[in-house]
Amino acid sequence: MLEDNVAGRSPFLLTCDHYGRIIPRALGDLGLPASEFERHIAWDVGIAGVANALSKRLDAHLIAQRYSRLVIDCNRPPEAPSSIPGLSEATVIPGNEGLTREAASARRAAIFEPYHRRIDEVIGRRLREGVPTVLVALHSFTPVYAGVARPWHIGTLYQRDTRLPPLLLKYLRAEGDLVVGDNEPYAVSDDTDYTIPVHGEKRGLMNTGIEIRQDLIADPAGQQQWADRLARIFGEIETALRAQGLLAH
Ligand SMILES: [Zn+2]
Repeated sequence: MLEDNVAGRSPFLLTCDHYGRIIPRALGDLGLPASEFERHIAWDVGIAGVANALSKRLDAHLIAQRYSRLVIDCNRPPEAPSSIPGLSEATVIPGNEGLTREAASARRAAIFEPYHRRIDEVIGRRLREGVPTVLVALHSFTPVYAGVARPWHIGTLYQRDTRLPPLLLKYLRAEGDLVVGDNEPYAVSDDTDYTIPVHGEKRGLMNTGIEIRQDLIADPAGQQQWADRLARIFGEIETALRAQGLLAH
């Protein structure tokens, strides 16, 4: 787990479930060639640089998972079959096949639970202290999935929050040069997601996910550009939410 800007004063609390691609030494390489760890199946390519820069620009607390989603996916309910994927896109993950229940729960205890316990603690403390808190889950998506090219530059992901996502969509569309996905390329659901349903919706926080297309943030220049753009947009959103009395404390 990685945290940045723990004392950040922004109302936005940033999470990044697929920030890193570390494999615990005991699991070796999961039976995969090194090239697979360059791909989106191992992590959200490019998002770490965006998350770090955005956290700084917004003065926002960032909580990020440095272990690979191939070990255990921190944005899946642990009981979902895709929590520890045997297959990701078209790649078989040998180290995940035929996993015993004990081995799966060991990964959950070592990686999944501490990460989510920490997010839960941070939200709990902020709510107790009356600190306005808006959850933003950062992700990136592969430009081509299963042979199909994706047109969106960025997408919002949400399920039950009716306050923040429409506002974010409005500001993203106002940029004028972006193809914006509305719950594309993914939509949030209780069965396929964890961070937004559990930490956002069950806590009653305004929340949204963001997905940025990976070819746009493949290098540090792109990451910085997107962090700058998002910092500006979230600054405007903060002003709008305050004007509506939604960040009152
Ligand atoms: Zn992701």
